[in-house]
Amino acid sequence: MTTRSRIWLAWLAGFVALAAVTGIMLAFQSRLDKAHTALIYLVVVLGGSVRGGRRLGLALAASAFLLFNWFFLPPYGTFTIRDPLDWLVLVAFLIVSAVTAEMLHREQMKAEEARRRAEEVDRLAALGAEALNVARADDALAAISAVIRDTLKLAECRIHVASPEETDVGSLDPLVAWAARSGQAVLRHADGTTGLAPGGRPFELSLEGPSGVNALLIPLRVRERTVGVLELVDERGIALDPGQRRFLAALAYYAALGVERTRLASEADRAAVLREADRLKDALIASVSHDLRTPLTTIKALAHDLRASGDERAVTIEEEADRLNHLVADLLDLSRLQAGSVPLHLELNAVDDLIGALLQRVSAALDGRQLKVTLDDQGSLLVGRFDLAQSLRVLVNLVENAHKYAPAGLPIELRAWRDDKHLSIAVSDRGPGVPADEQDRIFQPFYRPPGKTPDVGGAGLGLAIARRLAEAQGGALSYEPRPGGGSTFTLRLPGADVTEADCL
Ligand code: ADP
Repeated sequence: MTTRSRIWLAWLAGFVALAAVTGIMLAFQSRLDKAHTALIYLVVVLGGSVRGGRRLGLALAASAFLLFNWFFLPPYGTFTIRDPLDWLVLVAFLIVSAVTAEMLHREQMKAEEARRRAEEVDRLAALGAEALNVARADDALAAISAVIRDTLKLAECRIHVASPEETDVGSLDPLVAWAARSGQAVLRHADGTTGLAPGGRPFELSLEGPSGVNALLIPLRVRERTVGVLELVDERGIALDPGQRRFLAALAYYAALGVERTRLASEADRAAVLREADRLKDALIASVSHDLRTPLTTIKALAHDLRASGDERAVTIEEEADRLNHLVADLLDLSRLQAGSVPLHLELNAVDDLIGALLQRVSAALDGRQLKVTLDDQGSLLVGRFDLAQSLRVLVNLVENAHKYAPAGLPIELRAWRDDKHLSIAVSDRGPGVPADEQDRIFQPFYRPPGKTPDVGGAGLGLAIARRLAEAQGGALSYEPRPGGGSTFTLRLPGADVTEADCL
């Protein structure tokens, strides 16, 4: 049944009921009081208001007022009233009927508004979820802008993704870039002038009636961050009633989530590409270094034979082959460390043993340069759980670097101490130090400072391997500039709680 025929039926029912109760009351007129009549008519008026709305209520009230006067107030059958108090009854009846019909109407309106809101929320939620649910993030944005454009009947609706670079280089329309940077809603008038949108937030924008605004830029925010800008354009002018503003506020949020999704999707793509590139690089390094080993062994064996036959050039060949061998071994180690396949023997070891082995290993290479050792044992033994051979390798690398970079004659200092749950071993020199902007990069594989002479140092793998070896053991390797000039590299290894009494 249509709303129109329902209303007609309510009117018909209302007046039939009015006629019926009038007839019944006339039959019992002698036993009825004015109060009875007023109350019975009031029931009919309220019933009519509930079924047919305020208009029917008021029409029934007016009719009941006349019927009351005609049939139930003396002199009967006329509209004249003898007793002035009867006027009071009639007017009171009319006021009560009208006021209750009006109150009922308001309550019904509120209920209707609440129902409409609930429907609107349901519709928006479904719309937003559908739009965001599209398989590709870019399609989700397109779907949301199409929904906004069609619902608000605008000529265009665009969603701009704001990345910091874009707003900086100004590749966006300057006004869009401004809205993205400032996080404020902006509007452009038909005459080309621009201004801040009143209230600054979409649902506070009061653009009702002909506004003269033909572009509206709303920043899209997620978690206090502007991720994009929603641009609404219509040369005929943009006007938004409260319902449309609510719709826009909700959809703007969905658009912001859509933009965030696009950003996350592209970041995930980039990360996947980088991971794949990294994997390929590791595989390449592993296979190249492995394949180089065999020819190098042959070259070295041949050079050895040549030297035996008295050829002086064999020494250079052997040295170069050694250097290459060293590089290949480093490359292999690095790729194994990156793959996590270096076997580690984490055992209880004393720093004394580590430093004893270090002194033995480097003494020849140091060419008489002094290596000063200080052990701060503070009553407890300097003992840790680490791989002796690999930790030795790290320290040898640090001492060799110090020897390589510090001016001849100046001692290298080595200090070991207990640092809460760790053991720290620092190697310090009075060399040139490392410039602030290179302090992180020297730990990256193949890093060579710009302008470094090729004859000093190796391929830039030593510190990269050393740091990974430290980390693989649960430790760390860090750099700090040394006060007074030079470098301090500190190796941290997991300590162990052993007192001297335990060793007795
Ligand atoms: P390399 O084989 O080139 O020495 P490393 O990984 O051992 O490679 O070192 C990387 C870079 O760190 C070096 O090229 C050098 O610039 C810098 N470096 C390392 N140790 C020192 C040091 N003790 N003093 C100054 N610079 C250093």
